[in-house]
Amino acid sequence: MGQVVKVAVPVPLRQLFDYLPTGPHLPAIGSRCEVQFSRRRLIDVVWAHGEASVAASTIRPILRQLDEQAILPPDLLTLCKKAAQYYHHPVGEVLQTALPASLRKGHSGTHEGELIWRITAAGHHADIDGLTRAPRQQEALICLKQHQQGLSRPALTSLNISSQALNALAKKGWAELVNLPLTATPWQERPFLGEAPLTPNAEQQAAIDALLGEDHFNTYLLDGVTGSGKTEVYLQVMAKHLGAGQQVLMLVPEIGLTPQTIQRFKQRFNVPIHVLHSGLTDKERLYAWQMAAEGQAAIIIGTRSAVFTPLARPGIIIVDEAHDTSFKQQDGFRYSARDLAIWRAQILNIPIVLGTATPTLENLHAAQEGRFRHLRLPHRTGHAQPPIIQLEDCSQLNPLEPLSEYSLKALQHTLDKGRQALVFVNRRGYAPLLLCGDCGWQSECPHCDAHMTWHRLAGELRRHHCNTQRPIPTRCPQCGSHHLIDRGAGTEKLQQMLEQHFPNRALVRIDRDSTRQKGSLAKQLDIVHQGKPCILVGTQMLAKGHHFSRLDLAIMLEADAGFMSADFRGPEQAAQLILQVAGRTGRTDQPGRLLIQTRQIDNPLLQLLCQGDYHKFAMQLMQERRLAGFPPFGYLALFRAESIQQDHPATLLAAASANLWQQHEVMVLGPAPAPMERRQGRYRSQLLLLAPERKALHKLIPGLIDALNAHPLSKRCRWHVDVDPVDLT
Ligand code: ADP
Ligand code: ZN
Repeated sequence: MGQVVKVAVPVPLRQLFDYLPTGPHLPAIGSRCEVQFSRRRLIDVVWAHGEASVAASTIRPILRQLDEQAILPPDLLTLCKKAAQYYHHPVGEVLQTALPASLRKGHSGTHEGELIWRITAAGHHADIDGLTRAPRQQEALICLKQHQQGLSRPALTSLNISSQALNALAKKGWAELVNLPLTATPWQERPFLGEAPLTPNAEQQAAIDALLGEDHFNTYLLDGVTGSGKTEVYLQVMAKHLGAGQQVLMLVPEIGLTPQTIQRFKQRFNVPIHVLHSGLTDKERLYAWQMAAEGQAAIIIGTRSAVFTPLARPGIIIVDEAHDTSFKQQDGFRYSARDLAIWRAQILNIPIVLGTATPTLENLHAAQEGRFRHLRLPHRTGHAQPPIIQLEDCSQLNPLEPLSEYSLKALQHTLDKGRQALVFVNRRGYAPLLLCGDCGWQSECPHCDAHMTWHRLAGELRRHHCNTQRPIPTRCPQCGSHHLIDRGAGTEKLQQMLEQHFPNRALVRIDRDSTRQKGSLAKQLDIVHQGKPCILVGTQMLAKGHHFSRLDLAIMLEADAGFMSADFRGPEQAAQLILQVAGRTGRTDQPGRLLIQTRQIDNPLLQLLCQGDYHKFAMQLMQERRLAGFPPFGYLALFRAESIQQDHPATLLAAASANLWQQHEVMVLGPAPAPMERRQGRYRSQLLLLAPERKALHKLIPGLIDALNAHPLSKRCRWHVDVDPVDLT
């Protein structure tokens, strides 16, 4: 028998399936076809051609071929293959991440012109004044009315029109998304520079020169303190590639937090910029994908999964805030977009830049070993000084008073000078715990080993990770007492306290709750950018990327928790956050200062960090990691199992790993209950594998997976493997 088609079916199985071609020719590798799979019809991707691996009589023919040619370019196919192998994850599920939903549902891969939002006839006659309660929709409708010929998504984004507003108008029948033939001159043939570049300082120039000299694969670690002008380096390097008609792919941790960066790109370059974010419709996402695949998108900015965007003429990949843990997917296909971006650049043979003020120890180690080229910007631009970091001993602080006298005075002083201040706590809601003063009852989540947070504004107890909500009890559910008290402080409580303390000052709270409504983040940030004295209260949404020119002071509460964390990455991640927050202050003429309220003033690591030198701090951590054999000096894989039966997960993991003990290169830790054993009603157990060599680790994993699959309990537990885990809880 001749060759068969090996397809990756979108099911969680770690294997390919054989099918027969419909005609004399085998469908192209990377093209889609429809097949009968058990009793379902599924759309899948041709992964390989080869000899049949099962009896010929059992192989079914393909039902339908969807594409003439590969829809996944060879570099992406290679990337997906490599990723499936490395993460030991089913290829079908890797493809689920890599392909836009529309393509997985069978939509055509080629587009018919430009995708345009246009006002409908009904929209013309709509009552615009009737939309006063939906100002974003009103704005969008007026905008579409002014642009009769319609507007593309990127154009609408630059006019600050939101997807939600457009979708709402479409629902009313007032706006529509249509395909129109492409008319504009390709961007490669137009002048692309919208404004003159800044004159780089010597350090920026050195980094730019190094990057401009590179046309081939090389990983650059652009290691620049906050405010050192990394973005200007990106811009000048991007200019070279855009000038040569090449595309730029940029990965960022969270789109919503980078409006300033995107705005700067738009000012600098007259080229189509496509932003991939979760607010896009399937159709729009597909369109951006196609525009990138055809080379009509010049700059593509997106989060994690944008690493799978096809590029017709790839020039360079940039990963901004490269240390950010959100580049690692925490469920399903647990990949690191940062690591995949490096592989992608290698496959494409183009340069990649990882930009950050606080590189991960893994990346720093790679730079020290010479695997990455280390470009450093140790100083802030212009006259800006490095922020001063101060520890404030709060071990005696009354737990009912989240802010110390000293912190309050510092806030007062900053406001009196007409400047702005920020209070940071990484916890939203009013208080993390409600308890009974008589019997000790605590507001525990019924499904997890965790407390429920009191959200006073919403009048609820909430557990953020499992979305459990309960009304606030008026009496203790255990003893009936009315003596309910709260412990700890979240952003809501801080806001309330600060409003009482500074009644005449503007207060801006920024967290997931206060910015849930589209456009509200922009509105809150506007207040800050107006420059009047004010206090910002917020969570890590405040820590990243923002440039607040009048912010002099930041105060952090509970920033030191990570230094006591059971997770070995705790101190590294806490330090990154601390330096990010410090980096929001003193970005222009006035010096900036961060006050850390701490209960462990003697912690040597914390004291070291206060010198403001991340590298010194990182070297100290690196020593500890080396001794423990942890990354970057060892390699980790984490197996987790969970079930509603408490003993099943550990039994399964123990049985499957029983004969691993003979493999002496790999250390097997566990099975042990996860740090939070019960989550969303399931008990969780984990097994950690640690090896000094990546190879030894990866050799073991397939056997363990097989053993897990073969064990009867695997039918009654959910389990997964996380290679290079970032979160060990
Ligand atoms: P980073 O991303 O490294 O934190 P930014 O790129 O946001 O820093 O730069 C901080 C500020 O410095 C910005 O306002 C930017 O416009 C300004 N800047 C950057 N490079 C220069 C330069 N060469 N000359 C003058 N100002 C600069
Ligand atoms: Zn009670």
